Amino acid sequence: MTSLDDHVLAVAIGAKGFMPDDEGRALHEAGLAGGSIGPLLEIGSYCGKSAVYLGAAARAAGTVLFSVDHHHGSEENQAGWEHHDPEVVDPRTGRMDTLPFLRRTLHDAGLEDVVVAIVGTSTTVARYWTTPLGLLFIDGGHALDVAMADYAAWAPLVAVGGQLAIHDVFEDPADGGQAPFLVWQRACHEGFEPETSTGSLRTLRRK
Ligand code: SAH
Ligand code: MG
Repeated sequence: MTSLDDHVLAVAIGAKGFMPDDEGRALHEAGLAGGSIGPLLEIGSYCGKSAVYLGAAARAAGTVLFSVDHHHGSEENQAGWEHHDPEVVDPRTGRMDTLPFLRRTLHDAGLEDVVVAIVGTSTTVARYWTTPLGLLFIDGGHALDVAMADYAAWAPLVAVGGQLAIHDVFEDPADGGQAPFLVWQRACHEGFEPETSTGSLRTLRRK
């Protein structure tokens, strides 16, 4: 795989975040496939781990990645929850702020020219978005209403033949929350064909 060189991989693996390397590589492959159709867009930048895998794919495909996040964390990232990291709290406000970490990751990976950070709430950005996407990666909030709203707002923007990737899909409730799995099931009924499954990452292709 020439489009993920050792340096870029080291930055991805070193970045804070919640994506094992095998899932990141599968995401990268989906990015290469989708990138020939249109730009890539992810919901949920956090500190940029998935953005590195997708950004490297965007570079190889000659397109860009838009990475959308309000950077204040999902419910499950807040203090007291399982996925909380006190280092990403801004001491001035007491709120999470992952934007500086994203910028650092993109700088280190040399991907600042192909990854465009969009700071805002996913559904607000979607309301003004019209460009068809070669790949949509859904990895934002995992509450059912939030995950479904992301899907409903963005899935219609995936181009025919484009990729939809969904993270944290667990069929068995014992393994994790069900919202991403319910989104995946809905996509299967709404014109997306399942393609790959790697850990909790699933990819589909728009028919
Ligand atoms: N893809 C990242 C992990 C994303 S974690 C990685 O590879 O590590 C989920 C992110 O979604 C958090 O940073 C949170 O701030 C963001 N998020 C949650 N709900 C959102 C919303 N409605 N709009 C924009 N971003 C949101
Ligand atoms: Mg995730």
